[in-house]
Amino acid sequence: MTGRNLITPVQNTWCPGCGNFSLQFALKSVLGELEQSGTSLDDVVLVTGIGCHAKMSDYLNVNSFYSLHGRTIPAAIGIKLANPRLKVICCAGDGDCYAEGLDHLIFAAKRNADITVIIHNNRVYGLTTGQYTPTSPLGYRGRSTPGGTTEFPLNPLELMLASGATFVARGYTRKMEQLRSLVKQGLLHRGFSFIDVLQICATYNDMTGYYNDRIYDLEDHDVTGFEPAFRKAREWDYNNDARIALGLFYRQVMPTYEDRIFAHPPDNTDRRKRIDEILLEKT
Ligand code: SF4
Repeated sequence: MTGRNLITPVQNTWCPGCGNFSLQFALKSVLGELEQSGTSLDDVVLVTGIGCHAKMSDYLNVNSFYSLHGRTIPAAIGIKLANPRLKVICCAGDGDCYAEGLDHLIFAAKRNADITVIIHNNRVYGLTTGQYTPTSPLGYRGRSTPGGTTEFPLNPLELMLASGATFVARGYTRKMEQLRSLVKQGLLHRGFSFIDVLQICATYNDMTGYYNDRIYDLEDHDVTGFEPAFRKAREWDYNNDARIALGLFYRQVMPTYEDRIFAHPPDNTDRRKRIDEILLEKT
């Protein structure tokens, strides 16, 4: 199928002003471009977790899989191993992937699994009406913390760099063109691509003013250097009031998890052959 309408007719229930709309637009736009340059959208799979972000599975007209809370990544890696030809995208929330699913995220980065993980990081549990997540700001007052959180937020970029991710970026839902570009670069990256997106939750944690006062674009930044990337990732630790860098922090080309799995004869050669046979039988 080509030139398909990438937005489904399902009624959209995101709140007005929600940053998820920007992410939907970015994905739609990038997938449309990839299709024009020869990628079949039949070879794209979107995996979502549980949360407001997960409605992307309902609203984006590609193969999709609603996984369990925190389990986007094992589902995505399983799909990729079963058919390495597929382009597998995980959309996950901060409450989803930085809490219950954190171990999966770390191991996917460590393995350099060839999937793209986009975190809709609104720094709150929006779907369940405003509980704090691992990236909520210190002092965040929500349903479960009426007196304010007493925990410092996690710095996901630092964690991903330390875990071995080969593509690490940060976007913002109010910087559309840059977000689109990061999503495209992430999808074209061979290996584990991680994009943390500062996503506005207009209803429970609207940080637009805070972000707008602090963001700047990474320029003259060596994306091949681990140390510069780490320094930049630590510059704003989700808690201090430093400026917030946006863009691509780090990129490396390394063998992927799938390369290594399928490169060990004889068992995996046979396995690879069998997968090809199964795929042929189905077409
Ligand atoms: Fe978006 Fe927040 Fe509304 Fe969820 S609760 S749809 S994240 S604005």
